[in-house]
Amino acid sequence: MMGKKLKAAFYAVLFAASTAAFAQDKALVNTSKSPYAKLESVNMGDVQWTNGFWAERFKACRDSMIPNMWRIYADPKMGHAVQNFEIAAGLDTGSHVGPPFQDGDFYKLFEAVASLYAQTHDKKLDELMDKTIAIIGKAQRADGYIHTPAEIEERMHPGVKASFQDRLNFETYNLGHLMTAACIHYRATGKRTFLDIAVKATDYLYRFYKTASPELARNAICPSHYMGVVEMYRTTRDPKYLELAKNLIDIRGLMKEGTDDNQDRIPFREQTVATGHAVRANYLYAGAADVFAETGDTSLTHVLNLVWNDVTQHKLYITGGCGALYDGVSPDGTSYLLKDVQQVHQAYGRDYQLPNFTAHNETCAAVGNVLWNWRMLQLTGDAKYADIMELTLYNGMLSGISLNGTKFLYTNPLAVSDDLPFAQRWSKDRVGYIGYSNCCPPNVIRTIAEVSNYAYNVSDKGLWVNLYGGNNLSTTLKDGSKIKLTQQTDYPWNGAVSITLQEVPANTFSFFVRIPGWCKNASLTVNGKPASVILTPGTYAELNRKWHAGDKIELQLAMPVTMVEANPLVEEVRNQIAVKRGPVVYCIESAGIPKGKKVSGLALSSNIDLKPQNIKIDNADLVSLTGKATIIDNTKWTNQLYREVNSKPLGTVDVQLIPYFAWGNRGHVEMETWIPFSR
Ligand SMILES: [Zn+2]
Repeated sequence: MMGKKLKAAFYAVLFAASTAAFAQDKALVNTSKSPYAKLESVNMGDVQWTNGFWAERFKACRDSMIPNMWRIYADPKMGHAVQNFEIAAGLDTGSHVGPPFQDGDFYKLFEAVASLYAQTHDKKLDELMDKTIAIIGKAQRADGYIHTPAEIEERMHPGVKASFQDRLNFETYNLGHLMTAACIHYRATGKRTFLDIAVKATDYLYRFYKTASPELARNAICPSHYMGVVEMYRTTRDPKYLELAKNLIDIRGLMKEGTDDNQDRIPFREQTVATGHAVRANYLYAGAADVFAETGDTSLTHVLNLVWNDVTQHKLYITGGCGALYDGVSPDGTSYLLKDVQQVHQAYGRDYQLPNFTAHNETCAAVGNVLWNWRMLQLTGDAKYADIMELTLYNGMLSGISLNGTKFLYTNPLAVSDDLPFAQRWSKDRVGYIGYSNCCPPNVIRTIAEVSNYAYNVSDKGLWVNLYGGNNLSTTLKDGSKIKLTQQTDYPWNGAVSITLQEVPANTFSFFVRIPGWCKNASLTVNGKPASVILTPGTYAELNRKWHAGDKIELQLAMPVTMVEANPLVEEVRNQIAVKRGPVVYCIESAGIPKGKKVSGLALSSNIDLKPQNIKIDNADLVSLTGKATIIDNTKWTNQLYREVNSKPLGTVDVQLIPYFAWGNRGHVEMETWIPFSR
């Protein structure tokens, strides 16, 4: 038997050796040792945005989004999130303020700070994180449990047991975000302070699931902890955590009281379609993909493939938004038994049920869609997942935050009308603080802080280019060789992308250049000569050769304005069109049409000439599309449901379409994404 000290030294050497062998251990999602992932990420900080779209969004994230949201969470009159930890730690007195998921949302913001630090090495961020970790550490119970609402409740009422009493509480959601944030903090700073807290918390969760009643073990609410636990396994290699992650999936659907809303009415492996709460669903799918990356359990990918097909063929908005319904039932129409019909909320609807005014499309569901598709891309290297990820990033995710980074949408409707005679639960105007349900703002902020991590991948064969944007990349390939390059582009406004190699490995390797699914006409050259490779939309074009410093790869993606129609079974958009250019979906809002006209009184003809034009809204550089829309009669509808068609031509009017994500940044507006089609 080895002595304790010797054993520790042995493992330290083993750990050092294993980390040296894998170059990408500081990745946002670290699949470098995942046996069933085809791709792995580059380290955080390896990609630096230089100019263009994501550089501008990143700057807004650094200078406005993160400082503003931190102020809100540290303000005792608003977020009260830092105060909740201080009170739980015994450093202050008072009650818990905010929803039960406030800790988790604060961890998301912390994660954004850690990701930002990985890219900027700003000492002030490091100090802020150190200070905050000290408070969180004091708030953690000796047994590893940490969830401020229950801890404060137990502190105020000694003898009362508040922890893990309600399966619908958000403890595991909070713990999941703690784990993810701690892994990213560890990878960004090399400090174990936050990771040690997360280890204690994960150990607590491991023990809890060993002893919990089956009913309490079914904590399925917004399961961010599936991703969190797997990432903890990837950081620590503690096999307990992988066992826990597998168990979390296995226990789903074993109890009679499960719901479609929580995706646990039936066991996960029996599911074939996306149901219920869209954030919970997408987090679950992302977590299951993570478990597959480590275990190779094909019964998980079997479900994920079926559900992905269901979402993309029946339930996904053109913006990448997920979750059509505010409230609904599941299933309806398929059972004679009323007891089979369950209430769902913020949920995926029926096939082709994609309303516009009442679309729920929570911003967090779009973030979940990015997380899920990113993981599917890591497993497979299949560009169809990069397409959905890109679509969601540019449209349904980015619409959740204002251009200046300080105002937010909880839901992302595809149309807004002031004439609708009912109010909906969530504001159609952007607000500074969503209050009780502020889950989306820190989620969208961490995503923007982290987009650089999605731009490239490496695999055994070489380097993968997933996203386009002005950046410098300095990373290592799987064999440990260095590669440095510069990407220059004005994407998504312009389809020209130029990649110049500065430092390249001596050995032959492949560049995998993504040809987006939307692009019908692409060209690719190396040093000015056409590449001898077939460019198929929705695939990666592989360029395999011996590369030299100074080599230039140039990609031209034709980006014409495109009119899109939906499957006629989407009854809400029959005879309407949406306008896309590249990956960007456009919309029409009242600030972009002449005063006195309404967006609902306009139609677009099939031969409309829409011209791209550079514009600024709230200091953000955008490309609008301008042209002439046909006026349709939408007046005098008060108290009238039907009337005879007025076929008299009413003329045309100048309109400006803007990217959907930028809507609502010019004050209160009406807006439409699907626009009536005049032939
Ligand atoms: Zn949310």
